[in-house]
Amino acid sequence: LFERVSTRLKAQVGQDVFASWFGRLKLHSYSKTVVRLSVPTTFLKSWINNRYLELITSLFQQEEPEILKVEILVRTATRGARPVGVEETAAIADAAPVAQARRSTGPQPIAQAVSGLTPPAPLRQPAQTPLFGSPLDARYTFDSFVEGSSNRVALAAAKTIAEAGAGAVRFNPLFIHSSVGLGKTHLLQAIANAALSSARSPRVVYLTAEYFMWRFATAIRDNDALSLKETLRNIDLLVIDDMQFLQGNSIQNEFCHLLNMLLDSAKQVVVAADRAPWELESLDPRVRSRLQGGVAIEMEGPDYEMRLEILQRRLEVAKQEDGSLDIPAEILSHVARNITASGRELEGAFNQLLFRRTFEPQLTVERVDELLAHLVGAGEPRRVRIEDIQRVVAKHYNVSRQELVSSRRTRVVVMPRQIAMYLSKTLTPRSFPEIGRRFGGRDHTTVLHAVRKIEDLVASDTKLSHEIELLKRLINE
Ligand code: ADP
Ligand code: MG
Repeated sequence: LFERVSTRLKAQVGQDVFASWFGRLKLHSYSKTVVRLSVPTTFLKSWINNRYLELITSLFQQEEPEILKVEILVRTATRGARPVGVEETAAIADAAPVAQARRSTGPQPIAQAVSGLTPPAPLRQPAQTPLFGSPLDARYTFDSFVEGSSNRVALAAAKTIAEAGAGAVRFNPLFIHSSVGLGKTHLLQAIANAALSSARSPRVVYLTAEYFMWRFATAIRDNDALSLKETLRNIDLLVIDDMQFLQGNSIQNEFCHLLNMLLDSAKQVVVAADRAPWELESLDPRVRSRLQGGVAIEMEGPDYEMRLEILQRRLEVAKQEDGSLDIPAEILSHVARNITASGRELEGAFNQLLFRRTFEPQLTVERVDELLAHLVGAGEPRRVRIEDIQRVVAKHYNVSRQELVSSRRTRVVVMPRQIAMYLSKTLTPRSFPEIGRRFGGRDHTTVLHAVRKIEDLVASDTKLSHEIELLKRLINE
């Protein structure tokens, strides 16, 4: 397998690139779903992780679809590419590969939904193994989660749940929402990690919605759905991440049953998504209404103190890995002041800095600004406003904005209005009722109807679909 992937990789990147970066890449271990490769230096590891991990992962997946994840390890005398003994397992679990586990920021294919750390082939099962589902990242604990005013309530609720014994269900389901990079996954995994290491040893399942879908689809294909349901029936705590991705009628149906069953038997359910439960429009109404029956808490962006502390903690962890690493305090606070978007951009900035310091030990604040320019203000993609959509669409079809939101139903205005509603739904996170309100107080079913109609038309009418593309471009200008 490794040979085949190497050959493909060579063909993709060319002989020269291959020789410089992959000549010393070796296969470390291979389980059904996880491939570990090793390189001799930390530098090579970051380089490959930053630039080629996605390519390598997809090459492996093309050869062997069951593979979910590829990790790069550094082989040294102590944590070598040789088989690992019991005493070393823990050390490895805390060491280098962890930091590289979740680098990709692009859209996540299902295969990558299973993120985080799987300790390399331990002889003894580590304490923290969820019963079933996506592996947990050992770094995501309550201890490493920085508290601030933006997440205090969510953190308190999460801790209560992790500490509560079976039957002591306090907020059920707990629904945590925020935009991307603000710590949902971290918090959810902290709950799972803490519950797993508690003395009660509850049966915990942590899943991303994508993994749930994939797992159910495979089980149905393999006529194994019954035993899967049996397994899920007997758990104490279900943690589901990225709920907004749950799709498909039969899968949602299964999920609905599971949710009802767990909630009715007072088992704890925790869910995270990028929006509030009532805004999850693609969700089956029954699922949505059960999710709305619990407690929903929103997390907001970290303030300066929190950002600085997140960076400082990262640095501590990095230093434990490699004592020679350091970043001066003024650079750290400069970054915390300027990278304001989310934990994810901070993480990106931090990794860049660490990486750069290897070549440029004398990094100045000015140089840091240059390096991180693309991250400043990132993560806050310019919000498209419904007013902008109405303005652009009205202009394009030569009607007034007033007419667009009026109750007139003449042909000249009906179609542009429907297009504007459709664009509002696709380009903003606004709900159907909200869009209805913004279009002269129309009912949400009217909006739904408009969106469906334009969707259908776009699928069959090339001219219209080009027009819509054009409008999107105009709106984003
Ligand atoms: P989300 O799931 O909301 O998109 P993540 O949990 O993946 O966000 O967070 C993105 C990154 O930022 C992670 O590396 C996470 O550890 C870090 N992060 C976010 N919020 C915090 C926090 N409050 N304390 C420590 N790290 C955080
Ligand atoms: Mg997440």
